[in-house]
Amino acid sequence: MQPIYIDNSATTPCRPEVLEAMEPYLQGRFGNASSIHAIGREARQALDAARAHVAQLIGCESKEVYFAPCGTMANNVALLGRARFIEANGLPKRLLISAIEHSSILGPAQFLGANGFKLDFIRNDKHGLIDLDHLQDLLRDPCGMVSIMWANNEIGTVQPIAQIAQMIQDASKAQGHDIFLHSDAVQATGKLPIDLSSLGPYVGVHALSLSGHKFGAPKGIGALFVRKLVNLMPIYFGGGQEMGLFPGTEAMSQIVGLGEAARLARLELDDSARVLRSYQSQVMERLATMDGVVITGPQDLAQRLPGHVSFAQANRDGEALVLKSDLKGIAISAGSACHRGIIEPSHVIKALALPEKTAMGAVRMTFGKSNTQDDVTYLLDKLPALLSS
Ligand code: PLP
Repeated sequence: MQPIYIDNSATTPCRPEVLEAMEPYLQGRFGNASSIHAIGREARQALDAARAHVAQLIGCESKEVYFAPCGTMANNVALLGRARFIEANGLPKRLLISAIEHSSILGPAQFLGANGFKLDFIRNDKHGLIDLDHLQDLLRDPCGMVSIMWANNEIGTVQPIAQIAQMIQDASKAQGHDIFLHSDAVQATGKLPIDLSSLGPYVGVHALSLSGHKFGAPKGIGALFVRKLVNLMPIYFGGGQEMGLFPGTEAMSQIVGLGEAARLARLELDDSARVLRSYQSQVMERLATMDGVVITGPQDLAQRLPGHVSFAQANRDGEALVLKSDLKGIAISAGSACHRGIIEPSHVIKALALPEKTAMGAVRMTFGKSNTQDDVTYLLDKLPALLSS
C-alpha cells in the first residue's frame, strides 16, 4: 500500500499539470532568456508569463516579482539586502522578528544581530499569535525593519498581517522614516488569499517570500515580492538577472512550473480551502475528544492554515509517534528533533510555553491537494491506537 502522505507543510508532490508544463523547458525549449535570438525570446516569453501568474496569485504587479532559488534564499535576500540598504542610508540598525520564525529568517536575523544590528524578538501568545501590544512597545524605539511570518509551518498560526502592516506604517510616520516590513509567506501562499496590490489590505507589506514546493511546484524555486520603489541592495553578484537580486541564468523549467502551480492555485483557492478545512476539522474534532491531547496553535480555524493540524501529548515522544505512524503507512512530522543525542522540542514549540513533558510530544499533520476523504477516514480509524500507547 502507498503511504498516506499527511505532511504537506514539509513539501507537496509536484502536480502533473505542472510537470507537463515544465517538460518542454527541459528539452526542446532550452533557451536562455537573456539571448536575443528566437530561442531566447521564447524563454523570455515563458518567464514573463510565469511572473504574471505568480503576481496574480498574490495580487501585485509582475515587475514586483523576483524569481528566487527557494524560500530560504528569498528570506535571506529580503533581510540581508534590506540590512545593506539600512546601513548605506544611516537608518536604524534594529530588527524585530517573532520568536517562531522559520530558521531561514532566524539565521540571517541572528547573523545581523552578531554584526552590528540590534535584534529584538516580538512575544507571542500560547497559540503563536503575535502580541500586538508588545510589538507596539517595541516600535516606540527607532527600528529599521520587521519580519513576521504570514503563517507558521509547525503550528499553523496565521498572523493578522494587515493589522501589523498598519501598525508598522503608523510607526514609520512617527519615526520619520520607512520601517521595512517583510513577511515569510512560504506556508500561506497558494492556501490563503493574498492581495498585495497598492489598494489591497496588505499595502504596508514591503516584501514577501514564497516557495513553489509548498503548493504543487517542484523544489528549488521560489519568489520574492518587493514592492515598487522599495529598496533592497544585492547580496549576490553576477549577471544581473532578476534585477540583480537573484543573478544567475534563469531556471526556466522550475520557473514555468512555479507559474503553472500559481495559476492553478489561484483558480482553485476557494474550493481547495473548503476541502482542506473539512479534513482539518474532522481530525481536530476527534483529537478534542481524546484524553491528554493538547492542540498546538489556534483552535479557531480562521486563525489557522487550511488543512493544518498540530497537537502534543504529555509524556510522549513526537518522533516515536512519527515512526509508529510510519509503520501504519501514515507520513506525518514531529515538533521535536534529536540534537547531539538529546531530543528537544523545536524553538516554535518552546515559544508556546507548554510544559516540557507535553512539548516533547508535539506532532503535525498537514493535508494537501493529493489527500482524499479516504485518507482522513483511515487516519481517524488508526488515531486512537496510535495515540494510546
Ligand atoms: N519559511 C517557511 C515558513 C517554511 O516552512 C519553509 C520550508 O519549510 C521555508 C521558509 C523554506 O523554504 P524552502 O524549502 O523553499 O527553502
